[in-house]
Amino acid sequence: MAYQHVLFAADFSDEALKVGERAKDIARRYGARLSMIHVVEDVNISLGGGYELLPVLPELPDETLLRESRAALGELASKLELQDAELWVVDAPSTKEGILGAAQDHGVDLIVVGSHGRHGLALLLGSTANAVLHGAPCDVLAVRI
Ligand code: AMP
Repeated sequence: MAYQHVLFAADFSDEALKVGERAKDIARRYGARLSMIHVVEDVNISLGGGYELLPVLPELPDETLLRESRAALGELASKLELQDAELWVVDAPSTKEGILGAAQDHGVDLIVVGSHGRHGLALLLGSTANAVLHGAPCDVLAVRI
């Protein structure tokens, strides 16, 4: 089976380039479309004491973070010379949900993540790689870091 749509899950760690190079290489070999995603986790707005009687407020994405993430994803795409890649910055309750939701919505058939990033250095497999692997509707490649 030839992959048709590869999704590179990008954090902005030092290893993102290595993971991205692998995603690019695989997409090229299969003649597949390549998209890049960065998830911004929703921020819980806390008003502090005195507001206990207010209804629970929705969780909101941090606009500054979204803007900075779009710029950073664009920079990463340039470094990887991925002018044709689609760039998605999404806000979601968790990185896992953001990646899996987008994969489902866009018919992705291979998700490429790093085995470890910021959250998972002490683990055999980082927390995002592990979560994505467990819930993915398609193949997952964890690039060894
Ligand atoms: P970690 O869970 O931090 O060990 O990250 C492992 C891998 O998950 C990274 O190498 C990325 O491929 C991916 N990843 C981590 N955080 C994000 C994020 N916010 N958006 C997209 N992908 C991410």
